[in-house]
Order: sequence, then structure tokens, then C-alpha cells
Amino acid sequence: MAGDVNPFESLQEQIDDAAAYVDVDSGVLERLKHPERVLETNLTVEMDDGSIEVFKAYRSQFNGDRGPYKGGIRYHPNVSRDEVKALSGWMVYKTAAVNVPYGGGKGGIKLDPREYSASELERITRSYATELRPIIGEDKDIPAPDVNTGQREMNWIKDTYETLENTTEPGVITGKALESGGSAGRVEATGRSVMLVAREAFDYLERGMEGASVAVQGYGNAGSVAAKLIDDLGADIVAVSDSSGAIYNENGLDARAVKQHKRETGSVTGYPEATEEFGNDDLLTLDVDLLVPAALENAIDAELAPDVSADVIVEAANGPLTPNADDVLTERDVAVFPDILANAGGVTVSYFEWVQNRQRFYWTEDRVNDELERVVVEAFDELTDVYESYDVPNFRTAMYVVAIRRVLRAAEEAGTWP
Ligand code: GLU
Repeated sequence: MAGDVNPFESLQEQIDDAAAYVDVDSGVLERLKHPERVLETNLTVEMDDGSIEVFKAYRSQFNGDRGPYKGGIRYHPNVSRDEVKALSGWMVYKTAAVNVPYGGGKGGIKLDPREYSASELERITRSYATELRPIIGEDKDIPAPDVNTGQREMNWIKDTYETLENTTEPGVITGKALESGGSAGRVEATGRSVMLVAREAFDYLERGMEGASVAVQGYGNAGSVAAKLIDDLGADIVAVSDSSGAIYNENGLDARAVKQHKRETGSVTGYPEATEEFGNDDLLTLDVDLLVPAALENAIDAELAPDVSADVIVEAANGPLTPNADDVLTERDVAVFPDILANAGGVTVSYFEWVQNRQRFYWTEDRVNDELERVVVEAFDELTDVYESYDVPNFRTAMYVVAIRRVLRAAEEAGTWP
């Protein structure tokens, strides 16, 4: 794990790499590489035993040229100002890649949620929502789930916001439970776009999915759903991992049964049908047809990249490859399909949720999945068009070219003010 690679610098390098193929003024480019503003706050919260704890929390609003800021909120001990800035920038280029009318934002609280009770987490979340209140809103900035947050936290934030504003505004946040204004298909959406991109990628590269071997690093919401849906395409999920380690079976693991095992025991390890168990890095270097990194950023660095043996990588996590790892893999002709496309299903169905909230009219799950497929396939085709018509080194740069052009056009049309 490349803990010392700063994800904000990775983001800036990725933007520079793609900007070389786009006609952009250097001042405008500078703006596209920095957030518009970052809220940094210290939440002071009473614990169950009456003591007081202080938590560092952030919200970065990176760019709003294409619409309200949009992006998740993560709870993790590694949350930092630069991580949140990077993640908010990736959201700008993600929403532009799939052409949903949003800018990019991201927030986080530095804590390990496993160390707190549900009532402590509720007070922490409501305190954070109170800090966010002046800067969020369905036309301003719309948070969503990210690492270690889900429907429960989104419902608390919505309730805090609506109570303080004395209104009903379900579109202030997405990823809510169905009864609180959530959308059918939202929970599975990130994993679904990973599956769709894997399917399109294999088709484009003229490789068969049937019987292809697949390794998935990370078995949270994105990884476990991606594994299940890729399994349904006829591929063999030979290895999966979580923070406890990796499990392997060369004949394929039953992705649903592994999920059930994790639900019951808390981890994927100890799954009875696995023939071997090993560490996370060993999973990342397995000789498989498809590798899906679905955990955190910097999973593969320049040191590990020469040992990666997969032919195709589809990024379910945000920023799982460092730029130096990317260079090594490009050199080695490994086809990497980038996060800003592959995991964009989450924000795309967040967009559908927001549209439904504003219309107070709700769609069927089939409609959500059909519209998602249309968006992802269209973006994939734009990526391959640029890949074939520009002399770009890899699919990531091609996708950034598509995205940056869109952000630039919106910025130029808006002009400079005052
Ligand atoms: N946290 C997710 C992401 O990184 C979803 C964001 C959203 O739905 O706004 O894309």
C-alpha cells in the first residue's frame, strides 16, 4: 500500500496528462486542478459515557460549472483534507464522464465507525449535518454515501437538514432508504456499472466473459455487487478479499454465498468452500483475466504494478492505482478501465434519485437499470472513440479527455466574473 502517495497530487497529474490533448488556457487549467472551497470543521460530540470527543470533518466543493456539487461522505480513520480534495475532484470528472448535470464534491469524517455505538454515530452525523446545512441543498451540494456510510447516515442527514430548514427536501441528499425517498436500484448501482464496464471492455477487446477468471479486492457494497453481477455473466470469481485477507478457489467462488458468509461472520475469510487463503497483495498479483480493485485508493503502486498479472483491470474503488503504477501498467499493455467511468453507476443512480425526488414520482427498478445501462454504454463508446482518434496512451486519459472537454465548455460558456 502506497500510503505516502498523496491522492490530491495523483488527481492533478491525471488532469495534466489529459489536458495535453485538449486546447486549454493555463489559467483555466489551474482552476480545474483546485477545489473552489473546502469546509474544515471540528465536531464536538457527547459520547454515551458523558465524555466529549472532537472529530475532524471536511467537505470539499471542487467545481460547480456543470451543476450542483455532488459526491459522497466517508467515515474512515485515513480521511484527510487532501484525500477529500482528491475525491471531490474525481467526482467532477466522473459526473462529466457520464454526462450527468453535476459538479463534484466530497466529504468525510476522520473516525473508525466500528469504535462507536449507533447513538454516538447518530450524534456525530447530525453534528456534521448541522455544519453542512448552510452549504448543501438540492440546488447547491448534494451528498451521498461513500466508504462506511449508507442509507442510515443519509436518512439522519436528510432529517437534520429538513428539521433545521423547516421544509421537506429529499433531494438534498441521495442514497436514502426507499421509504425516505431513495431510489430503487441505488444500492446496487456502483457494482452494476462495474459489471457493465467489464462487459463492454471484454466485448471491445474481443475477449469472452464466459469462464473468464476474476479477482475482486474489497467486498463492501461495490465489490460484492460487482462480483455477483460479473458471476451472472458466466465469469468465474476465483478470488475475493476484504481487510481480513483473501480467499481463493480456482473453480470459482459463489459470490452470493461469500456475501452471506461475510454478513454472518464479519469477513470473507473462513469461507468453507475456499481452497486457499492469502494476503491482499497476493490477490492483486494473481494471474487472472480481470482484476477489480474495489477497496481504497493507492491499492496498487509502482512497486506492486510490475507483478500484476491480470490482463484487464476495471476500477471499482476511487483512485486504486497510483499514477506511477498506471505508467507501469500502460507500458505493459494492461487494459485499465478507469474509476471515473467504472464506478459512476453510483452517482448516476443518485442523479435518478434526485430527479425522482424533485418530481415526487418514482421509477421501477427495471427503468432505473435500463437508464443506467444506457448512460454507461454511451460513456464507454465515447471513451473508445477518443481512444481510437487521439494518440492517448491509455483508456484513463481518453476518459479524462471526454470529461475535461465537457467541464471546460461549461466553464467557458459561463465566462469569468467579476
Ligand atoms: N460515493 C460515490 C462515488 O464515489 C457516490 C457519489 C454520489 O452518489 O453522489 O461515486
